[in-house]
Amino acid sequence: MSENPYRPHLMRIVDAIEETGDVRTLRLKFLEPEIASQLHWQAGQFGQFSIFGSGESVFTIANAPSRGGYIECTFRQMGKVTSGLRNLSVGQVVGFRGPYGNHFPIEEWRGRDLLFVGGGIGMAALHAPLQFALDHRDEFGEIVVLNGARAVADMVYKEEMKEWERATGVRVVRTVDPGGETPDWNGEVGLIPDVFERLRPEPDGRIVITCGPPVMLRFMLMALEKLSFKSEQVITTLENKMKCGIGQCGRCNVGRYLLCRQGPVFTWAQLKELPSDY
Ligand SMILES: Cc1cc2nc3c(=O)[nH]c(=O)nc-3n(C[C@H](O)[C@H](O)[C@H](O)COP(=O)(O)OP(=O)(O)OC[C@H]3O[C@@H](n4cnc5c(N)ncnc54)[C@H](O)[C@@H]3O)c2cc1C
Repeated sequence: MSENPYRPHLMRIVDAIEETGDVRTLRLKFLEPEIASQLHWQAGQFGQFSIFGSGESVFTIANAPSRGGYIECTFRQMGKVTSGLRNLSVGQVVGFRGPYGNHFPIEEWRGRDLLFVGGGIGMAALHAPLQFALDHRDEFGEIVVLNGARAVADMVYKEEMKEWERATGVRVVRTVDPGGETPDWNGEVGLIPDVFERLRPEPDGRIVITCGPPVMLRFMLMALEKLSFKSEQVITTLENKMKCGIGQCGRCNVGRYLLCRQGPVFTWAQLKELPSDY
């Protein structure tokens, strides 16, 4: 009899980082070590994380495959499942099934300059491809990371950003919305698309990887167009309500795509084909 695809593997929480008041990063290790060696994923894929007594939630696998042996996720407390997860401590056990979905075409980015633009919890989706690029630093050109949040207290990966900017040829730009700065803030102040425009990146051969709330994405695409980026150079990862994760329930259908199978990673060119109300 084939294995039940909905049966999760058990994982123990081995580390927890409080990123902000409502965002947390967890590091998880499989209870059965042989699963760890069998599990292969690519940056951009996601998992269904189950919290016993609360339910399942979809999160991006936040660590690059080059940092294997464990799984990381960064989640924002939203509702029932993420609140249940927030209440768990190091040592407790959760379920994981996956990896699911498509992935970032990192192989095609070799030799190119990379610009990562993340808004709020959207940075979680960029974490794995960024980590991959940092782990293979000499295979890519210049790396710029633009990490934006509403306010200083909402900025994720604060500690890790210090590590990223120590790497050769990496520039990290932090920005908060006007009014979100503190007296000691030394980053940018401005909405992400505005700061992006101020950076005036040359489109020539550059890949832009972006993720954030729909409104940010809408204005980012306008800014990219203004700076003459082509839709094939821009790639993003979408969120939608999701249930099974394996293309059976149709819950995540958008236009002709099932996000869990043909997504969540799309080029800007593909996004243009999606229904305008998405
Ligand atoms: C491919 C994919 C990757 C994701 N990666 C991450 C991640 O890395 N980190 C993270 O924090 N979240 C991520 N999400 C979103 C996450 O799955 C939901 O926020 C989470 O499941 C909420 O569960 P809950 O039971 O706590 O809240 P619920 O009670 O289900 O929802 C609380 C509120 O959030 C809204 N909501 C729930 N899910 C979504 C959604 N997918 N899109 C828009 N609104 C929603 C509900 O309508 C409700 O208003 C991802 C979603 C997808 C589809």
